[in-house]
Amino acid sequence: MALKTRDDYLASLKKMRPNVYKFGELIEDVTTHPATRRAVESHCLAYDAANDPELEDIYTTTSMFSGEKILRWNSMMQSAEALIGNMHVKRQNYRRSGTCTGAVCVGWNAQNTLWAVTQELDEEFGTDYQARLKNWIIDAQERGITVAGALTDAKGNRGLKPSQQPDPFTIVRIKEKRDDGVVISGAKAMICGTASSNEVFILPGTAYGPDDEDCALACVVPRDIEGLTIVEARGPSDGRDLNTPSGYEVPETGVTQGWLLFEDVFVPNERVFLCGEAQYTGKVVGYFSANYRACIGACVTGQGDVMVGAATAMARANGLSAKPFMGKLVDMSVKNQTTFGMGAGACALGKSHPSGSYFADELTAHSNKVLVATLPYEVKRQAQDISGGIVETGCMPSHEDFTNDKYGELLQRCLKAGECSSESRFKLARLTEWLTIGGGVPGCMHGGGSPDGAKLVVRFKTPFEEYVGYAQKIMGIDEKISEPAPAKKKD
Ligand SMILES: Cc1cc2nc3c(=O)[nH]c(=O)nc-3n(C[C@H](O)[C@H](O)[C@H](O)COP(=O)(O)OP(=O)(O)OC[C@H]3O[C@@H](n4cnc5c(N)ncnc54)[C@H](O)[C@@H]3O)c2cc1C
Repeated sequence: MALKTRDDYLASLKKMRPNVYKFGELIEDVTTHPATRRAVESHCLAYDAANDPELEDIYTTTSMFSGEKILRWNSMMQSAEALIGNMHVKRQNYRRSGTCTGAVCVGWNAQNTLWAVTQELDEEFGTDYQARLKNWIIDAQERGITVAGALTDAKGNRGLKPSQQPDPFTIVRIKEKRDDGVVISGAKAMICGTASSNEVFILPGTAYGPDDEDCALACVVPRDIEGLTIVEARGPSDGRDLNTPSGYEVPETGVTQGWLLFEDVFVPNERVFLCGEAQYTGKVVGYFSANYRACIGACVTGQGDVMVGAATAMARANGLSAKPFMGKLVDMSVKNQTTFGMGAGACALGKSHPSGSYFADELTAHSNKVLVATLPYEVKRQAQDISGGIVETGCMPSHEDFTNDKYGELLQRCLKAGECSSESRFKLARLTEWLTIGGGVPGCMHGGGSPDGAKLVVRFKTPFEEYVGYAQKIMGIDEKISEPAPAKKKD
């Protein structure tokens, strides 16, 4: 089985039914359309890396099913080493694209999560979910596909359960169970890399109770399945620089965030891995988020690597040595490495599930997500601080103005500062702007879930009473010091 290449991947996308829209337009070919081609290119870089002798160890591995060399993002993660392997892919991807590549990331995590949950389901109910999943994974490995992962529903009113929502379409649900499959309906939101994906792995967005068993669904669908309409969100990779040469406005890479509208989509049984068993949705979200929130530390670190590099280069392009900024640059590097180290630590401290899937330590992984929602913003602030105002608030002229016949030359003279050309300074400023306030910003705050959600897990996983015991024992305090009873309300 030959490893798939960029050309195979592009050909597979070109064959798909057009169902991606942006600016009201149906995109006939996502590989060439300016609104989506940069996101596709980011994913192409992953295929290039898998076929590059210097990077193949990061991007490929051996299938535990076939023994063949496969793309790592189609593999099973059954050890701490495999999970840290996921982190290395994420960091490299960011280093090479400057942005997020969701379809070689979220679906991968979803398949490993479901491997564990389907085993538990099969044991309890005598179902054959894991065998179905295995068939799909083997096929996905052979085809070397990209798989986006869709957990987040449009949700509707955050204060209401799905069964209480005035509009049921805000959450993807099982509308009808048939002998040969299910019909699903509803919306998933903000799904990364959908336009660049071959398939989409659908998971429940949160833990549901018995009233919401119609939302307890895990399945995988082709991205172009009949009945699915995808609307890509407006973003900085949206092709406004259609006629601008590479690198002047945004990089040749990018990211897309899709809104997935499922209208009576039929999913055959062989692609359904959870179907109404609401009591297992908490496990799906728990296993998924432990690994995702460990590994997300590597995405932001990869982008931080580029930010440290861009800030250093900007100082030089401004005519200054990097030396006076070394304190800030070291500070950036420390923050940057913290989320990587914490994520790797969560992986190292994890444990194997009886199914073989390996899961990161929850307390460490969710604590990492809180840092991911904090530290990269500090790194961005420092990159802006070092680089100057031209990277900060849309102060840079456009490429059209920079090369304008009437005043372009004057602008170019104004932008010349250090020894490098004004053109290089222009491009570096644009990159830093992209990394700090533009489309290069990975989902540090809400990607992988909100920091408050992560803090909730930290709260429940921290053994506060055990810690009280340590404190009291050290000082020889035997008496029980209880929480005071809540004060009675005055009449
Ligand atoms: C760049 C990026 C990439 C993403 N990629 C993907 C992807 O590939 N796949 C995917 O499935 N999702 C993806 N997401 C979505 C992401 O998982 C969600 O944004 C995240 O889970 C938060 O959900 P939300 O945006 O609906 O925010 P909300 O749920 O609206 O949360 C907003 C705030 O309200 C709080 N809150 C919410 N509900 C309650 C409540 N009931 N009580 C009290 N407080 C509450 C939250 O903690 C948060 O502080 C991505 C997001 C981003 C930003």
